[in-house]
Amino acid sequence: MNCIFCSIIAGEAEASVVYDDANVLAFMDIRPFTSGHLLVVPKRHASGLSTLDPDDGARIFAVAQKIAAAMRTGPLPIDGVNLHLSDGAVAGQEVFHVHLHVIPRNRGDGFGLRALPRTPNRAILDSTAAVIRGALN
Ligand code: 5GP
Ligand code: ZN
Repeated sequence: MNCIFCSIIAGEAEASVVYDDANVLAFMDIRPFTSGHLLVVPKRHASGLSTLDPDDGARIFAVAQKIAAAMRTGPLPIDGVNLHLSDGAVAGQEVFHVHLHVIPRNRGDGFGLRALPRTPNRAILDSTAAVIRGALN
């Protein structure tokens, strides 16, 4: 398997590491959305959410939460944080080893997500909720 994040985890590719434990590694993104943008990855390879061990999902979230707290209280000028995960090419996933983006935010940094131009009515929200709820069962 040719996975750049597995190579980083194995120490075969370089990375600027922020956090390292038995299950999780966090390192700086080489093409940051904002200054300080980093990635939190499970050490066990999973290409996407459908194959991610839920325990690893919980672990990467816990590490991202800890890093976000450190960003907010540390010396860097960081006023907020976005956590982001892309699952699937259409969602913007480029590296097929699950990773949680930790994106530091400051006013006017230019980063953002955009909503659809119109608010769907309640009937549409209810029917979409019912379809997703049905798929959960
Ligand atoms: P995705 O689009 O898959 O959610 O995010 C992949 C991220 O990995 C991108 O933000 C990209 O800049 C980052 N990335 C791609 N290759 C490397 C690499 O070799 N090293 C590091 N540190 N980040 C990478
Ligand atoms: Zn991998």
